Amino acid sequence: MLQLSKKDAIVYDGDELEHIKNIILDYAWEDQKNKTITIKNKISKHTLKKQECKCVYCEQQLIWLGPQIEHIADKSKYKQYGFEPLNLVIACAYCNGSSKKHDEDTVLYEHERYEKCEFKIVHPYLDNVKEHFVYLMDGQVVYDYKKCTPKGMFTIDTFGWDSYQYLLIFQRVQDQKNKPIPIDLEKLISEISGYKRKNN
Ligand SMILES: [Zn+2]
Repeated sequence: MLQLSKKDAIVYDGDELEHIKNIILDYAWEDQKNKTITIKNKISKHTLKKQECKCVYCEQQLIWLGPQIEHIADKSKYKQYGFEPLNLVIACAYCNGSSKKHDEDTVLYEHERYEKCEFKIVHPYLDNVKEHFVYLMDGQVVYDYKKCTPKGMFTIDTFGWDSYQYLLIFQRVQDQKNKPIPIDLEKLISEISGYKRKNN
């Protein structure tokens, strides 16, 4: 899991904040749809850049996989956090589509201030990620499950990170670290972050 810093979270301008408030209160009209798309594209571009085009959870490169805006606290359950900067990350389709993650309420205790919420899964912005995971041997591929913290274990279970499919992904992530692919990050991000516009 990537470690993200709070200062890297997206910042909205006054206009955007006003629009977001309307969306949350259900006051955003159909003719304002383009504004919502523009904000989502800004989130996507900003976050992809901060995450260096990697999935926040499994860290695999998103070059060939469609990046998806992921809400750590599910946006259907926690509408008020739909645009909360610390709740927004980019994930790959495997992690975002993980059925267990979808079924699971990731919030343990809710608080009116997002930062004060308690999460069941390791939170890339609010937790010290490294503290929660221990690996077998040096390569960061196989988890030493019983040595992880309870929150770490819960995260592994939620995403199914001990499955064969993820072992292959984690191995590939390590290979990419050893042999980085030369990519023009700026170009790549502008190409893949505009995906929502095409669909609308
Ligand atoms: Zn992933």
